[in-house]
Amino acid sequence: RARDAGGNCYRFFSPAMNQRAHDRVILSSVLGTALSSERLRLVYQPQVSPHTGAIHGVEALARWHDPVRGNISPVRFIPLAEEAGLIEALGEWALRQACGQMAQWMADGIAIPSVAVNLSARHFRDPGLPAMIAAILQETGIPPGRLMVEMTESTMIADMDSTTEAARAIRALGVGLSMDDFGTGFSTLANLVNLPLNEVKIDRSFVDGMDRVEESRQIVNAVIGMGRNLGMSIVAEGVETKEQLALLDELGCPVVQGFLISHPLEAQLLPDWVRTWQQSCSTGLTRLPAA
Ligand code: C2E
Ligand code: MG
Ligand code: MG
Ligand code: MG
Repeated sequence: RARDAGGNCYRFFSPAMNQRAHDRVILSSVLGTALSSERLRLVYQPQVSPHTGAIHGVEALARWHDPVRGNISPVRFIPLAEEAGLIEALGEWALRQACGQMAQWMADGIAIPSVAVNLSARHFRDPGLPAMIAAILQETGIPPGRLMVEMTESTMIADMDSTTEAARAIRALGVGLSMDDFGTGFSTLANLVNLPLNEVKIDRSFVDGMDRVEESRQIVNAVIGMGRNLGMSIVAEGVETKEQLALLDELGCPVVQGFLISHPLEAQLLPDWVRTWQQSCSTGLTRLPAA
């Protein structure tokens, strides 16, 4: 079975090895080659104003298609990439792909103001990160303001000093910095003080309960107010219903993202999506057209 992973790498598994460990070995060895093959790609999910429908940008999300195993979720392969020491390679690949795609959209006159790329918090400990981002901006020729970097915390920020330094250097390039999944996991209020953030993304677990649970609604309201006071934009993630959308608009949330607006799309579908979206928004509505 290990040979299915491709290449000429032979490994032996003790019967005691559990399925997860087994998967990890296979997935990590495949991921090493997936980065340079067609197996890995990015899809893009639109982000819009809940009030006017104006397009704020898109978020790039990694997709891995394995010819034998089918689609593997990033929720599974990102932690594996971290364990296998491949997270920096994955981050660089995603930045290069997304910035190259933005350059293409700009050349084609597609009105997508920015692209957000997810980077593992672990990657911010790499002292070469800001220079690598600068090099990719230069290679692709996109203005730095067109790129947003989302810090995704699957592990605790272990070294706050070097993380803060990297974050400042990235901001100094003119690139935006966003805290992903705010309110869950390891993302803390302390990070809001320490990191030079432009944007905070409210995790979808809070958005999910908004129309039923008063507490969720209060938390969302508080985060929106905090963003306003700190001069940060707020993105509500995982918006699935019109009720959620209406509530977020009422609370003054500047940006929403979720299946109600659009599922993540293949890059080549974005131009049509933008055209259709703008058409339905330009009919004089102050609120989003029914998606
Ligand atoms: P995330 O950055 O918080 O991305 C949002 C996730 O929510 C995406 O899942 C997206 O497809 C999903 N989503 C969007 N709208 C809705 C909705 O209305 N309802 C529901 N139920 N889900 C929605 P996805 O693509 O499976 O990605 C999962 C996570 O994997 C991401 O969460 C991010 O943390 C990580 N990830 C994805 N791509 C990359 C990448 O290139 N690099 C790194 N380091 N992490 C990535
Ligand atoms: Mg994200
Ligand atoms: Mg998120
Ligand atoms: Mg998430």
